[in-house]
Amino acid sequence: GAMGMARCERLRGAALRDVLGQAQGVLFDCDGVLWNGERIVPGAPELLQRLARAGKNTLFVSNNSRRARPELALRFARLGFAGLRAEQLFSSALCAARLLRQRLAGVPDPKAYVLGSPALAAELEAVGVTSVGVGPDVLHGDGPSDWLAVPLEPDVRAVVVGFDPHFSYMKLTKAVRYLQQPDCLLVGTNMDNRLPLENGRFIAGTGCLVRAVEMAAQRQADIIGKPSPYMFQCITEDFSVDPARTLMVGDRLETDILFGHRCGMTTVLTLTGVSSLEEAQAYLTAGQRDLVPHYYVESIADLMEGLED
Ligand SMILES: [Mg+2]
Repeated sequence: GAMGMARCERLRGAALRDVLGQAQGVLFDCDGVLWNGERIVPGAPELLQRLARAGKNTLFVSNNSRRARPELALRFARLGFAGLRAEQLFSSALCAARLLRQRLAGVPDPKAYVLGSPALAAELEAVGVTSVGVGPDVLHGDGPSDWLAVPLEPDVRAVVVGFDPHFSYMKLTKAVRYLQQPDCLLVGTNMDNRLPLENGRFIAGTGCLVRAVEMAAQRQADIIGKPSPYMFQCITEDFSVDPARTLMVGDRLETDILFGHRCGMTTVLTLTGVSSLEEAQAYLTAGQRDLVPHYYVESIADLMEGLED
């Protein structure tokens, strides 16, 4: 970006006014930035309104694949974020569907085996890709021969792995069998290792499931979510975004901040989510510059000080 070396400086005062003054827009991660579970970050809705009033474009980019765009828009509204359009919301489910639409262009009635949520299936359906496999799938039969004899759907051209609480050995076995077929794509929505909940609790993230499929299939998945720049490409299909004049605000160094650097944006770590200031400073000391944000704030509410009333 235009900011030069990232040093993890606190963003306030004149620097804050300057950074916001030069920015045309802001990309926000959602979990740990706008809210934690059902608890919104205090001041976040007001900040978004004030950014809009100041003429800044705001876009939202989430690795979470558990909500299709309409549900995500409802969640924003329900939590008190008013005046946003669904078109501003980009999830890894939406962007995965777009990638498949591109890669499977020309395939009549494309079909995907989905290890994921109904929301991921809905996004695929929305771009004309039929999903099979969503929901529970228990082991059929008594041993390997039975498992391998379970019939597969014909014409599956992709295996898509997202957050799937019904992930099972049966599904893993099917995924690998599909992937042994010629020209079958492997796509993962994201590689997050954990999904944080309130009060420091967490559950295993999508990355664990993608790794299981990759390991069994001996193939690497195309990953959609941050830090993969693919989500930025997906956004630029709809909006013209000048990365040099865009801020990437997120709570995770290994996804949001790395993504911001890879896409040439100015990066801001907010401390209301996963990563701590100590971790950022450790990366700075270790010289791992791509994981060091240009700036940090305690909360995105702190950004309001940099805006005119
Ligand atoms: Mg987050």
